[in-house]
Amino acid sequence: MNAPLPIVATPPYHFIGGRFVPAATGFTLPVIDPSDGAAFAAIARGSAADVEAAVAAARGAFDGAWGRCAPAERGRALMRLSQAIAAHAEELALLEARDCGKPLRQARADAAACARYFEFYAGACDKLHGETIPYPEGYTVLTWREPHGVTGHIIPWNYPMQIFGRSVGAALAAGNACVVKPAEDACLSLLRVAQLAAEAGLADGALNVVTGLGAEAGGALAAHAGIAHLSFTGSPATGSAVARACADRHCPVTLELGGKGPQIVFADADVDAALPVIVNAIVQNAGQTCSAGSRLLVQRSLYADLIARLSERFAALRTGPAFADLDCGPLIRASQRDRVLRFLDLAQRDGIAVAARGTIVADAPAGGFYVAPVLLRDVPATHRLACEEVFGPVLAAMPFDDEADAVRLANGTDFGLVAGVWTRDGGRQLRMARALASGQVFVNNYGAGGGVELPFGGVRHSGHGREKGFEALYGFTALKTVVLRHA
Ligand code: NAD
Repeated sequence: MNAPLPIVATPPYHFIGGRFVPAATGFTLPVIDPSDGAAFAAIARGSAADVEAAVAAARGAFDGAWGRCAPAERGRALMRLSQAIAAHAEELALLEARDCGKPLRQARADAAACARYFEFYAGACDKLHGETIPYPEGYTVLTWREPHGVTGHIIPWNYPMQIFGRSVGAALAAGNACVVKPAEDACLSLLRVAQLAAEAGLADGALNVVTGLGAEAGGALAAHAGIAHLSFTGSPATGSAVARACADRHCPVTLELGGKGPQIVFADADVDAALPVIVNAIVQNAGQTCSAGSRLLVQRSLYADLIARLSERFAALRTGPAFADLDCGPLIRASQRDRVLRFLDLAQRDGIAVAARGTIVADAPAGGFYVAPVLLRDVPATHRLACEEVFGPVLAAMPFDDEADAVRLANGTDFGLVAGVWTRDGGRQLRMARALASGQVFVNNYGAGGGVELPFGGVRHSGHGREKGFEALYGFTALKTVVLRHA
């Protein structure tokens, strides 16, 4: 069932200064296929020396050809990269599916989104401008949006191409040169995209990829004095470590740290429309999505009926290898599967009822990291399953009484990334959107992972700063105010 990889993964090298280079130490790491648990490729194990080389290459590009590029020319380069990604979308999707274990159609959607990010930001390059500010007679005041210089990008394993596109696309569009540290579990697509970027004519050194372990290569990047802005997506604990490293030299950081997204369904909701969206928001990428809708809050009068209907859908969900292209693939690695299974053990120990469970297909390879989707009902609001990010296909459902109760429960975790509200009442739609502590609120829809144009980011422990949309460009620039006196 696990289709052979039709293309050869890039060599176990970094991509620095427009070419593949081996790790300074020569060390490599194996790449594991989550669908069967077997190693199928290798990547370079980066160290501080490799980060040093990548930052130097990026600085050279920023001070040289890339930095001198006119905005429209920058835009054309990014558009060529977008077109190259689109032209190689199937190859990239196959690579991503194998590397991350995600069902093929999800990997295809990720490749399409990556191309779309570069298309969006290509068009923005020559539209990012400052202002003139009214000031007393005899003065002219201008603001300029200037690139930071060399930006660092630490990317997680759950959506490598999408998170790379949203972060690096915006940073390059704003005129920065980038050093990227992908997650050690999923690097291959980004190495290939970097190669495509060079072929598309992006200036050498504008985009560099250093692979390796988090504390080793990622730690060196976060601590490097040559990095002028750092964009991090990943766990709250690592986000804090990265932010501390940056704080020592006052380097600005964008942190995107996950969530515990509530889907809030009122009794007047269009349940037929809501049901497939609720399911998709938790099974997409096997629940390994920061914006997953991992909590389900349902008004009490609708609760029993909705849980019954949702249970039918959960029971029909099937989990299997990436290339079988089922509802769910495996989790990224054994430790992530074990973590999710520990959460499910906890639910059992504490008497939380399983309303429904999907199945792992019988011919799924024994070595794969599979967890069947689970719908838990009547989860107490203070239970760890209602408060912590499981990062697996586990949906925690609970009833609420009225609007105030819904807001209290929805805002009752440390997170605040994405929330969904299902109601036909227009006034309530707006009241809820205002009351929810969340970076994004979806009404009668839920956009887990989508929306290139839509500013995205969290409040509270979900992080700070915004990526995606035009807003991201502001984060990847520093505003300079120029005051001219001309009597
Ligand atoms: P992580 O935060 O450890 O890894 C994310 C990225 O940070 C990777 O590239 C990793 O190599 C790098 N990294 C790790 N330690 C580092 C360090 N000390 N300095 C600099 N970079 C470092 O995440 P994880 O361990 O792979 O996953 C654990 C949990 O994180 C998951 O269960 C999930 O809750 C969360 N997570 C969230 C997202 C998200 O999109 N918000 C993505 C992945 C993981």
